[in-house]
Amino acid sequence: MPALDYPPPLRRLIAQLKSLPGLGPRSAERLMLWLMQEAGRVEPLMDALGSASSRIHACDDCGFFIEAGEECALCHDPKRQQTLICVVEQAADVLKLERSGAYNGLYHVLGGRLSPLDNVMPEDLRIEALIRRVKALPNLDEVILAVGADVEGEATASYLGDVLRVENVQVSRLAQGLPAGGGLDHADELTLYQAVSGRRTI
Ligand SMILES: [Zn+2]
Repeated sequence: MPALDYPPPLRRLIAQLKSLPGLGPRSAERLMLWLMQEAGRVEPLMDALGSASSRIHACDDCGFFIEAGEECALCHDPKRQQTLICVVEQAADVLKLERSGAYNGLYHVLGGRLSPLDNVMPEDLRIEALIRRVKALPNLDEVILAVGADVEGEATASYLGDVLRVENVQVSRLAQGLPAGGGLDHADELTLYQAVSGRRTI
């Protein structure tokens, strides 16, 4: 007799959940059990997934999300400085920078960062779209690379720096260093190293 298992639709559900980032087999199983435990838990989720999938797409220019039938709230905001583009890895980074209030220019979402080990190559990121925009924006002064400070972020920044310099535009990176409110004793060596090399005159 074959070993008892969940019926095939539930096994399929577990398999789908398991394929989500951050969910292992045990959490996928727990989530399936939670969803199936009470009526009314699955439908709202299906509804949200369905409308996100059918009504949302990425802006051809900046790569941030747009709802069907609407203009991109970032690219079509006349109050934004058209002289700056800030390049970020993910759409969530746009929101973080917006909440900081420190930046009011245009954005460009890459959709990840270069990582040859994970097979993420330049053609997998929205780099061509970035170059097209840089060429098309007549008043552009500067491209700010707001990518991560780890190895892959460095590789991405260095690649973009090379590609963009050819376009005759100033390229900068975010300053790195000590976290706000933190003393030297809380900073790791790499952070301290970057803080020293990125020091500025006061
Ligand atoms: Zn846009």
